[in-house]
Amino acid sequence: MKMLVGGEWTDTPERMEVTNPFDGSVVDSVPKARPADVERALVGAVEGARVMRNMPAYDRYRILNRASRLMFERQEDLGRTISIEEGKTLAEGRAEAGRAAETIELSAEEAKRIEGEVLPLDGASNGRGKFGFTLRVPCGVVVAITPFNFPLNLPCHKVGPALAAGNAVILKPASDTPLSSLKLVEILVEAGLPPQAISCITGSGSTVGDTLCTDSRVRKISFTGSRDVGEHICKMAGLKRVTMELGSNSPLIVMDDADLQKAAEAIAVTGFANAGQVCISAQRVIAVEKIYDDLLQVLRTRVAAIRHGNQLDSTTTMGPMIRQSDAARVNEWVQEAVRGGARLLHGGKCQGALHEPTLLADVSPTMRISCEELFGPAVAVTLAPDIDAAIALANDTRYGLSAAIFTESLDRALKFARQVDSGNIHINWGPLWRADLMPYGGLKQSGFGKEGPKYAIQEMTELKTVVIHGLSA
Ligand code: NDP
Repeated sequence: MKMLVGGEWTDTPERMEVTNPFDGSVVDSVPKARPADVERALVGAVEGARVMRNMPAYDRYRILNRASRLMFERQEDLGRTISIEEGKTLAEGRAEAGRAAETIELSAEEAKRIEGEVLPLDGASNGRGKFGFTLRVPCGVVVAITPFNFPLNLPCHKVGPALAAGNAVILKPASDTPLSSLKLVEILVEAGLPPQAISCITGSGSTVGDTLCTDSRVRKISFTGSRDVGEHICKMAGLKRVTMELGSNSPLIVMDDADLQKAAEAIAVTGFANAGQVCISAQRVIAVEKIYDDLLQVLRTRVAAIRHGNQLDSTTTMGPMIRQSDAARVNEWVQEAVRGGARLLHGGKCQGALHEPTLLADVSPTMRISCEELFGPAVAVTLAPDIDAAIALANDTRYGLSAAIFTESLDRALKFARQVDSGNIHINWGPLWRADLMPYGGLKQSGFGKEGPKYAIQEMTELKTVVIHGLSA
């Protein structure tokens, strides 16, 4: 495929291959952007921002709404593209394509709801004869940088609200999974978006990304990805607005009054979806003593039922990881935990990019599989004596994106919700759950700023205060 830069579909002499993670076969190739391409994207976006700022909200709504309908019509093709380039199962790819269409639909609706407020200036001692109100205006040029693991819906969570708010966007997708983003951009242009309002630039993050993030024409950076790259971008960004959606090692507490079958089901679903490569995957299961052995028993049966293999085979329920090197890294952390005294209850082997769904018990919180973000198909179970110790363990991390508890006690559930430092809290389900309309984002080193179109629009607009002086009343 070609990339869209400054309103033109562009090729480059050097191209990057896109491969199927399952067997390494080449699926397609995309341009490798040069500094001159980045400059063209920036010049185009400045003009695109001018066009978008003057476009009525109703027209922005119409374009995004049309794009959403085209996405629903092409859900099967988009789902297959996601599955082939990312490695998630066809069912997961299809579901992501549907969610992405809904995210654009939500963004369309929000385009009509960008409001200011009337300021009660007569309440100020110097406010007599004044009238004040706020205006919410677009930032201008928004740079959106996205990770590999949700190659369509995460770009939609940035591009949708940015366009709804009247900005121009330069989208830089992950180099492993650029095809879904390029298809999204094709659809937006087909739906009537002025081509200069969106560039999609493919190429290495460290070259393209650095140039985009340091340029003063960019007014807003919205980044989803790893903690380390996020921190690097914050240092480079200078005086720009920045939203950071970063990683996590999400905890899930199981109390002695929990329904263990439901808890085991939730751990299996939320620990192994997309081969554990979700920022809110259940990674650290913290279980109290009374139910510890019983939970492990039902959980082992449930994890053993996961069928891993070729993501394009309809009987597969868990596909490969994105790269062979990631499967090897996960395996190293698993082996390291076993050497340190953890019990391997299921899985533990890898071949190519496929890593077996893996269950470990008696994991110490200081092991890498517990204290670092694993981002792979293994769940680490740790024993805690009571709710207070379990909450302390849940909080014993630099991350704070999502956390969950299984309990039938309202008292314990609310204590958990109040005391655990996490942007998302789930009671009686795992940490991996999201409705695209809700506010979503992390605390601590999981980032700052919220997504969900209504909330992302706040992040992608500026507030102006207007005061009229000299009125008679
Ligand atoms: P990375 O941080 O490696 O990459 C994310 C994006 O940043 C890619 O597009 C990458 O480009 C780009 N990039 C790399 N270096 C730079 C740079 N110097 N300047 C600007 N951009 C750069 O993340 P992954 O793709 O591996 O995704 C996994 C991570 O994303 C996990 O930590 C996960 O938790 C997190 N994540 C967080 C979510 C959230 O909502 N909080 C949701 C989903 C994932 P390139 O690919 O070319 O290197």
